[in-house]
Amino acid sequence: ILMVQEQYETHEHDLLIIGAGGAGLRAAIEAKTQGVSVGLISKSLLGKAHTVMAEGGIAAALGNVYPEDNWQVHFRDTMRGGKMLNNWRMAQLHAQEAPERVLELERWGAVFDRTKDGLILQRDFGGHRYARLAHVGDRTGLEMLRTLQQHAVAQGIEVYMECTVTRLLKDGDRVVGAFGYRRSTGQFIVVMAKAVILATGGIGKLWKFTSNSWECTGNGTMLAVDAGADLIDMESYQFHPTGMVWPPSVRGTLVTEGVRGDGGTLRNSSGERFMFRYIPEFFKAETADNEAEADRWYTDKKVNRRTPDLLPRDEVARAINSEVKAGRGSPHGGVFLDIASRRPADYIMRRLPSMYHQFKELAGVDITKEPMEVGPTAHYMNGGIRVDADTTATAVPGLFAAGEVAGGLHGGNRLGGNALSDLLVFGRRAGQHAALYAKSFSGAPTVDTGQLDACAREILMPFEGKGAENPHAFHAELQETMQPLVGIIRTETELQEALVQLEQYRKRLPQVRVEGGRTYNPGWHAALDLYAMLTVAECVTRSALERKESRGGHTRDDYPAADPRFASVNVVVRKRHGAIVTALEPTLEMPEDLRQLLQEKG
Ligand code: FAD
Repeated sequence: ILMVQEQYETHEHDLLIIGAGGAGLRAAIEAKTQGVSVGLISKSLLGKAHTVMAEGGIAAALGNVYPEDNWQVHFRDTMRGGKMLNNWRMAQLHAQEAPERVLELERWGAVFDRTKDGLILQRDFGGHRYARLAHVGDRTGLEMLRTLQQHAVAQGIEVYMECTVTRLLKDGDRVVGAFGYRRSTGQFIVVMAKAVILATGGIGKLWKFTSNSWECTGNGTMLAVDAGADLIDMESYQFHPTGMVWPPSVRGTLVTEGVRGDGGTLRNSSGERFMFRYIPEFFKAETADNEAEADRWYTDKKVNRRTPDLLPRDEVARAINSEVKAGRGSPHGGVFLDIASRRPADYIMRRLPSMYHQFKELAGVDITKEPMEVGPTAHYMNGGIRVDADTTATAVPGLFAAGEVAGGLHGGNRLGGNALSDLLVFGRRAGQHAALYAKSFSGAPTVDTGQLDACAREILMPFEGKGAENPHAFHAELQETMQPLVGIIRTETELQEALVQLEQYRKRLPQVRVEGGRTYNPGWHAALDLYAMLTVAECVTRSALERKESRGGHTRDDYPAADPRFASVNVVVRKRHGAIVTALEPTLEMPEDLRQLLQEKG
């Protein structure tokens, strides 16, 4: 079973898309309309990608609830939320194009919740000036993925399900396909292509308490950096303020921001609405500073100032962390999130059905009657592969990236709802531009067999492991390093310690050994993800060391304030001569008209 010289299952397409989440599927649809042949490869079954878990909604300035909303305000909110580290051009395109992308989903059959007038209903989320999230109860991702999948399949896309890509194939500098294996049989698979889009999602499985699914092991991020692409803002990881904290088996499971958007409030052990004590300067002008004002906003929305429960996620996560640290937390180390005392049961059941069932079944808590216990959970990679805003091209010819795996749009912190719209806007752009690139490619892509054999040998290594390291135990240990040392609050000493430990893991990697054969072998799959996780963990840690200040999703206890020297720089990571190196590079210069927009109040 371990012979390398076996037949490779080989396919050829104009375009290969790696990942069948929202970004990959939207890219596939667009590429198909450009008339190229598309192969779509996915680690999980079609329809099971992580996007299916998205709950609260898709941000787009449709102006259905607040007619005064428009792309300019959405752009401004996104830039402010990202602490101005964002790629302004991505933020502009995203805000401008998101409404059309949502309407298009509706035309393809997505059934959104409605206003009384029959328009797409929009809900409040943190950091958004106006109620802006198109949603389907608290199961928006399911509806979005279902719609995209049906539409994509109808276009005639070749899908390779349950196949893991382990390496990108190159011809000189150019990416010309991918190498992987079928998870069910262990058979090697080679897909040659004139262009490749990475749409592989996030890295949340690096941490112990996470909202992410098993797929989120950072494979695409590793593939990109190993192929020579740049990563950006990797220190900026989002810890969502509200994950479940109890029972231990489900700790980290997401509690959608929609709970607060629909009226829920955060309280500490003495019942205080503590968020009023944590309003940062930046948001003072637009955030209610007393309960009466905030409640008026919640009830009749007549006041423009917002409740501090809906400050951007980094602010809320840090505040919860401080409350718990100060001994004002809930019994299981979180804080309370209360919607029961503020909304009638039928409203909660209608708006938040998944949350009701989640708490009832997993924690024995009836959220229509009692408060929830919540605390921060690893959630979203704000940074990622550096791409060109208009085309999503990476620094490597033939390689494009979109969705959570790509960076730039969100800068220092992502606003809720901006991920799903990111998938639609930049998924479409990736499909369009990668297809154009493929069409301009002269000749068939080729790869030398030595490269394929090296890929095959690498995949088989865990069967020949030199020690007795168990891959699952290895992963759990890595999480024990990342959770405390590269978590929500960081210090130089802890980050350096993390680097030392990561180096030890790297040395131990060849000791990982799996038993059995290549058919249905989860231990083998887990072993193959370890290299990606170690690589990405190092990228995050080195970036976090480089940014010696606190900004957005990156908090340094030893540098607690934002430092003007870091205000207009991104941390960039790349691999040079086999080593991961970081550099500080200036953010893109913003045109004057957009700069003006950011100065405006409101
Ligand atoms: P994914 O949906 O993660 O898909 C990645 C794809 O890549 C999968 O098909 C996977 O199988 C494949 N893949 C990965 N590695 C490989 C490999 N090596 N080989 C082959 N295939 C591979 N955002 C919002 O805007 N609004 C929300 O309400 C919201 N709610 C959320 C709720 C939860 C619980 C979570 C965890 C996130 C939520 N987010 C939300 C964030 C958002 O859902 C994700 O950022 C987004 O879905 C990522 O989509 P994607 O297409 O980039 O990747």
